Amino acid sequence: MSEKTIVLHDQRAKGLIIPKPQRVLAPGQSLTDMWHRPLRDLRISVTDRCNFRCTYCMPKEVYDNTYRYLPHADILSFEEITRLASIFLKLGVKKIRLTGGEPLLRKRVEDLVAMLSELKTLEGHAPELTLTTNATLLKHKAQALKQAGLQRVTVSLDALDETVFRRMNDVDFPVSDVLDGIAAAREAGLGLDASGHFTGLKVNMVVQRSVNFDQILPMAEHFRQWRLPLRFIEYMDVGQTNNWNLDEVVPSATIVQMISAQHPLMPLAATQAGETAKRFGYARADGQWHAGDPEVGFISSVTQAFCGDCNRSRLSTDGRLYLCLFASSGYDLRALLRGGASDVELEHALVGIWQSRDDRYSALRQVQQGHTEPGAQRVEMSYIGG
Ligand code: SAM
Ligand code: SF4
Ligand code: SF4
Repeated sequence: MSEKTIVLHDQRAKGLIIPKPQRVLAPGQSLTDMWHRPLRDLRISVTDRCNFRCTYCMPKEVYDNTYRYLPHADILSFEEITRLASIFLKLGVKKIRLTGGEPLLRKRVEDLVAMLSELKTLEGHAPELTLTTNATLLKHKAQALKQAGLQRVTVSLDALDETVFRRMNDVDFPVSDVLDGIAAAREAGLGLDASGHFTGLKVNMVVQRSVNFDQILPMAEHFRQWRLPLRFIEYMDVGQTNNWNLDEVVPSATIVQMISAQHPLMPLAATQAGETAKRFGYARADGQWHAGDPEVGFISSVTQAFCGDCNRSRLSTDGRLYLCLFASSGYDLRALLRGGASDVELEHALVGIWQSRDDRYSALRQVQQGHTEPGAQRVEMSYIGG
């Protein structure tokens, strides 16, 4: 086997047996898993395709022209997604994130946004609707997405340097087009909060020590000046294809120190329970930080596991429900949907699945110091979404 060959075990075929509910939920009682974590966040992958080949996510050697993407008939329709989402909302979900693959490649994804924005949470509010994108199509879609009811957007951008960025996306895509996408989102008012700040228009940067370490400070400075929250993500050992190595992870604490040496940072309180990013504000000369002032965030999934309050579930493009980013199999909800299950039966299934959830991969990895179980074949991030 050559050094570049990566064997991809296809985890898409497996479906777990759906457990029966362990406890019947009394009216008004919250659904919780085995570690008393509620279900609040649903991430929906709307396509397994992408126009980038980020080396840490969909490396070219695996996702080449022989790779078999899901056939159209296997993909959940907008109606199927919306029906499932409405049941998740009944069980306590408040936030829905569309992801992929590249979600803006899904034809008329704004129609799905419009359908989801009609739904209601248990409290009778519209769910918080957001989307993660590489922004290649954002310039053309920002306005339509905003009109359809999208409230927030997260743009992934790993470098400002042209050579570094093109090497990372591996399809020669220029930085300027991503920045144009962000500008279009801002113009459309995506991510604008009630106080007139763009707290819901965020930028995510995955850091790999040997690849884009020198981009940390330029990125921090650029988005500090643009007053958009930049979040540094520790490079994770998701999937089986990215040849992950602990030496490539730059701990968030290192980045906090690097930025603080230039601009003092102060820790900020979480805005929501189960928030993945630890937030820091750029302090003013008087040592204060006020809402709307620039901030940065850190998603430290490797060095500081946040499984303890993880309230996220992930629905794959073909309707499998994954309870953890590092899971190796999911529950086949599409089979239930297409087999004629009623809403009550679907709700029952979701209650059983969530009540039996025991996943805490990052917390256990931390205990085992980076050791992952041999033979554990984790699902790819491009299939279930980030
Ligand atoms: N294509 C869209 C994008 O890139 O924004 C959405 C899907 S992508 C899988 C979602 C997020 O996962 C992106 O911010 C990406 O940088 C992040 N991601 C992918 N692989 C990762 C890894 N190995 N470690 C950390 N983050 C990763
Ligand atoms: Fe595509 Fe996003 Fe994965 Fe990059 S991180 S390959 S843009 S799905
Ligand atoms: Fe949640 Fe799994 Fe990540 Fe832990 S490892 S925070 S359970 S997705």
